[in-house]
Amino acid sequence: MFFVMAALVGCNSQNAETTSTEPAADGPPAAQFVLENVSGNVYRAGLGGGGGHTTVLLVTSEGVILADPIRADFAEWLKAELRERFGTEVKYVIYSHHHPDHASGGAVFADSAIFVGHENMSVNLANIPSNSAPMDTDGNGVIEKSEAAGGTLNSFDQVDTNQNGVLEAAEINASIRPLNLTYQDQLLITLGDGEVEVRHSPPAHSDDMSVLYFPEDKVVFAVDFLQINRLPGGLTGFLSGYPVSSYEAAIETVTALDFEIIVQGHSELVGSKADVEAFSALLRTTETEVAKAIAAGQSLDQTLEAVMLPDYADWLLYNTRREALVADMYRFQTE
Ligand SMILES: [Zn+2]
Repeated sequence: MFFVMAALVGCNSQNAETTSTEPAADGPPAAQFVLENVSGNVYRAGLGGGGGHTTVLLVTSEGVILADPIRADFAEWLKAELRERFGTEVKYVIYSHHHPDHASGGAVFADSAIFVGHENMSVNLANIPSNSAPMDTDGNGVIEKSEAAGGTLNSFDQVDTNQNGVLEAAEINASIRPLNLTYQDQLLITLGDGEVEVRHSPPAHSDDMSVLYFPEDKVVFAVDFLQINRLPGGLTGFLSGYPVSSYEAAIETVTALDFEIIVQGHSELVGSKADVEAFSALLRTTETEVAKAIAAGQSLDQTLEAVMLPDYADWLLYNTRREALVADMYRFQTE
């Protein structure tokens, strides 16, 4: 039997631009937004390109169940596209996790949709997002301009709406529509002739992850704690410092499902169960190879040259992310 546990929580209207660690804020124009069929009534939509943020949706007889809204301009485009192609609107938004580069823009659907996420996400939205927290080097719960980097620094003055020179959690999270419905372990959502199973995976990348499973079409959607034919951006930062064993436990939530196609949170690449297992193997191989180098007394620089991960040379971002992944694994095992 499917276990359903849900709770209604407060709902406030908020809408503003925000920051991200992946380059979404200044991403491609609407002309590159995509909406395409995956299988049956499940569609993949996103910003386009090899790193573009991606979401999924199920078209049912009573409206659309959508995963991440990603950001406001994309959400506006998608809303119009769904009206034109299917004559329908979004009834549920189900967040994969709290990071603003995936969870922003939901206010566009607030006139028709219920917002759903894991119960930890409500807690996380009261704080600096975990993918921004490493910038808060003095640990005071806000990001000073001197601490900001990358996209956060570029968008600092827009996000600092009260102009006090620091980014507070409320400012960083202002573009994320709060949750109406939370759950603890699993949640079944039925709408018209469609349904989605929402499952919480153990903490990895974030502690509020939701995996979406569409049983009719055997499609699964999982974000950021796994990648398909694409290297992750290191173990600290993008993977947020959880050990490899945490990722394996989270990935088990996915591999336990009877699915044929997995859609990931970045890029147009979809995959199979074998691709998910290949990602686990990448993490384990990196961990093992780095451990060998450390045991042999190799320095970080020597380890970066020794651990080339040749089996993954054809994956997206291999050239730009291999060193960061190896370096983070090295620090993880030595600090
Ligand atoms: Zn994330």
